Amino acid sequence: MEGKIIVISAPSGCGKSTIINRLFDGGDLDMRFSVSATNRQPREGERNGEHYHFLSTEEFRDAIADGRFIEWEEVYPGRYYGTLRSEIDNAVEKGENVILDIDVNGGINVKKLYGDRATTIFVQPPSVGELRRRLESRGTDSPEVIDQRVARAEYEISKAPQFDHAVVNDDLEQAVGQTHDIIANALA
Ligand code: 5GP
Repeated sequence: MEGKIIVISAPSGCGKSTIINRLFDGGDLDMRFSVSATNRQPREGERNGEHYHFLSTEEFRDAIADGRFIEWEEVYPGRYYGTLRSEIDNAVEKGENVILDIDVNGGINVKKLYGDRATTIFVQPPSVGELRRRLESRGTDSPEVIDQRVARAEYEISKAPQFDHAVVNDDLEQAVGQTHDIIANALA
């Protein structure tokens, strides 16, 4: 039987990475992480081939030209991210399930491509006001950057109806539990 594809998308600051890590820590969901390609620099602790396939901009462009991506997006100006065909098709043919952490437009494209074989989950903040409050209390971004992130989040939230499921990350434990159950059902 062919494997399933799970997509998780969320505006930045919604706790998506925490939720995904918690799902893997749980260890009961039979799926592996699809490693995307990007031309951004690795952050501290990120390893090539594990968190991302880190490519130069030229290598990324070549990969586009060679048709190696299922989807790719310029998520931030000059920063490209893409799902490699090799990460998905071989696994799915072998019956393995994969989970993709990709942006909202990528998630919508994967759903269009794979239809019922893909389950898309949108993680959203309780409200835009609450997201702004979280970003402000984190204290890492300037007011301009916070405005940009909030504006981007509003745009992304407007696309939530195109996802199969929406999970509101108000209480982390509840959000992890709901996401877990959606995925367990999809893989059953
Ligand atoms: P970060 O640089 O923080 O790791 O990721 C930035 C954004 O790029 C996140 O929203 C992440 O989900 C998205 N992203 C990561 N990989 C892919 C991908 O392969 N395709 C798309 N469309 N977005 C991705």
